[in-house]
Amino acid sequence: MMDLKEQKKIREEVIKYFKMAGIFLTDEEKKNKIQIVDYNTGNFYELGLAMVAFVNVQRYCGKFILFFPGQCCAEHRHPDINGKPGKEETFRVLWGTAYAYGPGEPTKNIKAKIPKGREKYFTSRHEVILTPGDQYIVGLNEKHWWQGGPEGVIALEVSSQSRDEYDLTTEENLNTVIH
Ligand code: ZN
Repeated sequence: MMDLKEQKKIREEVIKYFKMAGIFLTDEEKKNKIQIVDYNTGNFYELGLAMVAFVNVQRYCGKFILFFPGQCCAEHRHPDINGKPGKEETFRVLWGTAYAYGPGEPTKNIKAKIPKGREKYFTSRHEVILTPGDQYIVGLNEKHWWQGGPEGVIALEVSSQSRDEYDLTTEENLNTVIH
């Protein structure tokens, strides 16, 4: 479990990246809205992400997502919930470079570095490289994962309501608690 001191350090880093990218965060967002996911593996900068949800209501959601350089989220999908379609997401890169993976022909020699020992949990290997202005639409219930490029990446995520507790990671026993 990540301790409060480490969380504070990471939040300060997150604020630096947003500043560098020219994306304004209010004092309230800096103080209370920076969410950290570390999957409880003890290596946040390898497997984790940070986000700021500036709105999340019943039918839509808007978030900024930050991946530090070389950091990735776990491969996951958004299943149907009680017979209704799961979360739909589109990402638009605002700053930096992202390596995005989803369904399709596997790319030879992908650019992302998969966390050691977890290769089997990253099954989507079709690579799309995204820079500012590029968008990526995640298909319904499709497996996907992202990694920040050499300078990291900040993307805008627009989606239907975000209910992260319903996300299914390919690695089943990952802890997806948000700090
Ligand atoms: Zn997703």
